[in-house]
Amino acid sequence: MSDDCIFCSIVAGDIPARTVHETDDVLAFLDANPLARGHTLVIPKSHAQHLGDLDEDLASDLFAAVAELTPRIRSTVGADGANVGINDGEAAGQEVPHVHVHVIPRFEGDGGAP
Ligand code: 5GP
Ligand code: ZN
Repeated sequence: MSDDCIFCSIVAGDIPARTVHETDDVLAFLDANPLARGHTLVIPKSHAQHLGDLDEDLASDLFAAVAELTPRIRSTVGADGANVGINDGEAAGQEVPHVHVHVIPRFEGDGGAP
């Protein structure tokens, strides 16, 4: 837990979020400023800024959750596809310094990747 991390505050329940999926190690919730309907963030519950900071088991659990959730989110919102990705580091556009995987539903004709 990092005191000044917004996603740690969501994990702690101090900031509300619309939870989509939760395990002991992983939390998925709707993005507050969605790029598309159903835009979801999947995070490890423990604080780490970079993907490379996760140990192998946690990285595996994180991606297992992403793999399980992506088709569920797609079918829930009736999407035709999804962009699944991580902004790793400020130079890559990472604004929240807590690893998160974006699952962004895509619809035919919506303009494609962000
Ligand atoms: P990044 O640019 O770091 O990859 O993406 C951060 C994402 O977190 C953005 O899509 C932004 O909308 C989302 N976000 C930032 N603050 C909050 C928040 O307090 N709650 C939720 N649910 N999403 C947030
Ligand atoms: Zn954090």
